[in-house]
Parts: sequence; C-alpha cells; structure tokens
Amino acid sequence: MTEEIKKEKLVIIGGGPAGLTAAIYGTRAGLDPIILMGPEPGGQITTSPEVENYPGFPDGVNGFDLMQKMIQQVENLGGRMVYELVEEVDFSRKPYRIKSSGGLYEADAVIISTGASPRKLGLENEKRLLGKGVSYCATCDGAFFKGQEVAVVGGGDTALEEANYLTNFCSKVYIIHRRDEFRATRILQERVMNNPKIEIIWDSELEDILGEDRVEALLLRNNKTEERKELPVSAVFIAIGHIPNTGLFKEYLELDAGGYIVTDKKHSTNIEGIYAAGDVQDPLYRQVITSAGAGAAAAIEASRYIDNYQG
Ligand SMILES: Cc1cc2nc3c(=O)[nH]c(=O)nc-3n(C[C@H](O)[C@H](O)[C@H](O)COP(=O)(O)OP(=O)(O)OC[C@H]3O[C@@H](n4cnc5c(N)ncnc54)[C@H](O)[C@@H]3O)c2cc1C
Repeated sequence: MTEEIKKEKLVIIGGGPAGLTAAIYGTRAGLDPIILMGPEPGGQITTSPEVENYPGFPDGVNGFDLMQKMIQQVENLGGRMVYELVEEVDFSRKPYRIKSSGGLYEADAVIISTGASPRKLGLENEKRLLGKGVSYCATCDGAFFKGQEVAVVGGGDTALEEANYLTNFCSKVYIIHRRDEFRATRILQERVMNNPKIEIIWDSELEDILGEDRVEALLLRNNKTEERKELPVSAVFIAIGHIPNTGLFKEYLELDAGGYIVTDKKHSTNIEGIYAAGDVQDPLYRQVITSAGAGAAAAIEASRYIDNYQG
C-alpha cells in the first residue's frame, strides 16, 4: 500500500514562539498552514517559571502559560496544530517533502523553527534546580538576582558577555573556567579582567550544584590540584554553548560553523521557498520576542513566495 501524501501550501516545523507566530501570520494570510509541533509543544520557554521580558505582561508571566496563550491564539484563528515529530525531509525536489511520525506531507513552502537547546553539564542537580537558580540565559534571568553573588560557567564569548552583563545588578560574579585561558575574543577578555566585580576561577570544573529548594553553593574541583571547594552563590549561569536542532536539514541547507541555519534578511535559506526562524537560525539573541518576530517575518515572506508560486 502506498502512503497517502498530504498536500499543503505551507508546512511549519516546530511549535515554539517562532513556529506559533508564523502560524498566526500564515493562517491570517489564508495559507492554512499545518504546524508540526514536535517533542516540546510551546518550545523551550515552557520550562521557565517566570518570564519578565515579554511585552504585554507587566507583572511577568509563567512560560508555560504564555505559550498556552499562543497555542490558543493559533487555535482561535483556525490554525491546524498536529502533535507530530518530523523524522526526515527531502528538499531536493519540488514540492518539498516532509515525513513525520503522523504521515507524509508535500509543501510549496516550509518554515523551519525547530529551536536550539542549551548545552548542559549533565548534572542531576542541574535539572532539579533549573529555574531555581540554575539558568542558561543571563538576559532572561539575571535581573532576579539583584545584589547577589552569582557564577557563570564557560570561557567563550557568550560566557564572558553574560558575566559582564550580570555585573550591572549582581554584587559579584565568578567565572568558572576549566582551562587557564579563555577562548573568547581579546576585547571581551580585557573587559572581564578589568571589571572589579568579576573574579575568575581558573582550571576548575563544576562537580555539583548544592541547595534544597534553591541554589545555595557550587562544588568546584580544581583539575590541576584535585582540590575541592564550596562556593556560596545564589545562581549559576551555564554558558557552554547551544546546539541548534538542524540535524534533519544539514544535507540540504547551508549551516554556519555552529550548526545554525544560514538565512538572509528575509529569513530565506539557500533553497527558495524554505525559510528558517528563531533560535534555529539565531546564535545572537535567542529570546522569545526575537523568535516571535522572526516567525512573523518568515511567514510574510512565505506568503509572498506562495502568491507567486509556479510549481
Ligand atoms: C530555561 C529557559 C528560560 C528562558 N527564559 C527566557 C526569558 O525569560 N525570556 C526570553 O525571551 N527567552 C527566554 N529563553 C529563551 C527562549 O525560550 C527561546 O529563545 C525561544 O523559546 C526560542 O523559540 P523558538 O520557537 O525559536 O524555538 P523553541 O522554543 O526551542 O521551540 C522549538 C520547537 O521545535 C519543535 N521541534 C524540535 N524538533 C522537532 C522535530 N524534529 N519535528 C517537529 N518539531 C520539532 C519543538 O517541539 C518546539 O516546539 C529561555 C530559555 C530557557 C531554556
């Protein structure tokens, strides 16, 4: 028996802020898109207990509740969300093919918004204390720790930028780095070295995160002397990189050195009619608002493309 092919104008892969905003715009533009929600409907932000930087919520909003509202908005507009995982794509032919856990689709245009996942240390307590002092984003959570001592783990550009940013409101910021030199750019290194609120702890690895209901201290191990010590802090920002969810597309789409999909200003990829939006193509900002904005732009461009589509 041959598998039924579902023919669509626009398929949106991913149901986080970028995909759901693309769905709002695509549905209102009359494209009747189908949204393949994947393993985490609502996206990464659903795990965050408090989002204070998304406009329109003066008292902050729980990440799960925010995404439920976006899902509701897509539903109210008649958007078709299906809880399927994309397993394979074929972008070598038109219409483009997408194979999911629920079936086979053909689409004139595709918006990819599969996000990125922060690289984790893999500690048990990292998971348990996420949102309770463990964070992967200083821009998102730094302001919760005004006047307190915190730590950043990492030695690249992001880690040093986050440490500098945190000194705007934290009383002290430790940078924990497993080597005896940074790989961040020289200018950022100079900035952290000259910042009196920053103390660098070299050659050290985070062995554990301690605390009952909140982060209270870190257990560090010096990898040269094997000496262990406890460092009391209220929060730890883990900045050891992000992994964009682009494995499915790497055969067809141009990726940068970090594995992010390369797009132009119009969110087009190297294949016409295939767009990318949100964390999957953005190594710089990685915010709900920027992802939503990218989703809107990609859907507007996809709509223009479909209006002129010749097949
Ligand atoms: C703990 C935490 C706290 C944060 N706090 C803030 C904050 O306070 N403010 C802020 O602005 N940002 C915050 N962020 C960052 C924010 O969550 C991201 O920037 C944003 O969610 C990115 O949106 P996105 O739609 O691009 O991707 P994501 O949210 O990552 O969504 C990706 C979507 O793709 C789907 N998907 C993945 N693979 C497949 C597949 N194979 N098939 C189909 N679907 C797939 C997933 O199911 C998911 O729905 C935080 C992030 C974390 C982890």
